[in-house]
Formats: sequence, structure tokens, C-alpha cells
Amino acid sequence: MKLICIGRNYAEHIKELDNEKPTNPVVFIKPDTAILLKKQPFFIPDFSNDIHHEVEILVKINRVGKHIDRKFAHKYYNQIGLGIDFTARDLQTQLKEKGLPWEKAKSFDGAAVIGNWLPLNDISNINALEFSLKKNDTVVQKGNTNQMLLKIDDIIEYVSKYFTLKIGDIIFTGTPAGVGKVNTNDTLKGYIENKEMFSILVK
Ligand code: ZN
Repeated sequence: MKLICIGRNYAEHIKELDNEKPTNPVVFIKPDTAILLKKQPFFIPDFSNDIHHEVEILVKINRVGKHIDRKFAHKYYNQIGLGIDFTARDLQTQLKEKGLPWEKAKSFDGAAVIGNWLPLNDISNINALEFSLKKNDTVVQKGNTNQMLLKIDDIIEYVSKYFTLKIGDIIFTGTPAGVGKVNTNDTLKGYIENKEMFSILVK
């Protein structure tokens, strides 16, 4: 399985990193080895001094598909989750400056937190879903899927032009504003509406 990630999908986050608003979505992939194992702490890797949290809404694919039309995209998932796209910001900045791929900064072991899943039936409107991240009990990121530049069904249409979507693939839909550094002994807790979706200790 693969993790397909969208970058720069919230206007306020584009501004905070001084990025240009993309004319086409930014897409990158994390391998399955990037998944942080359940109940394990996240260990800050020794190649970075600036690991950032990016809380993101996740979509789990449940049908094989390619060239999926937007109007059929909703048939390809029935679970929504929440996760973190951990990013070595210092390394990513160097790679961006040189126009190099981001994998070393985004796809290292443990860089993908995947929380619990909610059945789509429990969600009244996936395009108006509030979510947040608390660091040590302070809310640091807050978003709503209604702020996404590309909505979930648009993302599925777009990425499936390039990649066959397989059962179990997970889409990271981009982060809202408020990304920031994590430090040893931080606790990160993610919420969709008021439901806790994950709790991670940083080591
Ligand atoms: Zn991200």
C-alpha cells in the first residue's frame, strides 16, 4: 500500500511558509515503512533539528481505481481519519531550494501517523469537518475541510490520473495553518470534531 500526500491545500498554510499557491496540486508519496506503528512513540531522527507536525484529514481507499471521475470519487472510500505528516522542515527547505524531491524530509520511518478511522456514515458532511491538533494540551492547529483548495473528491480525481488507487491506500489531504516544531516529551493529540483520533508521544 502507499500513502499519497497533497501539499499546499490550505491557503493560510501556504502563506505561513511563504509558498506560492500552486496552479496544480503538489503531490508526493510516502512508502508503507513511513507509518508510525500503533502505540509507538515518534523518535526525532538525528538528521533534523526542525521536525514539524502537520495534522491532516486522511481518506482510506476501498476500491481499485484509475482515472476516477470526480462524480464517482465518493464510491472509492468509506472511512475518514486523521494523521500527521511529520516533516523535517530544515531538510525540506534545502531540498526545495535545490529543486530536489522531498522524500528524505517527508518519507522517513515514522513520518506518517495514522489515527483511528470513522465510518463515513457517522459524518454528516465531509466538506465541513472540523479537526485540530493539541500539543501538550494547547491547540496548535485547527482546520475545517471547507477550507481545502482541492476537496476530497477532487483529490481522488487528480491523483488517480497518475497512480492506480488500490484497496488500503491512504490519502493525506494537506495541512491547515499552525505547523510547528516538535520537541522531546511533547504529546500530540488529534481530534475530528471532539473525538480523539490519536495520541503520540515524541521522544
Ligand atoms: Zn502535509
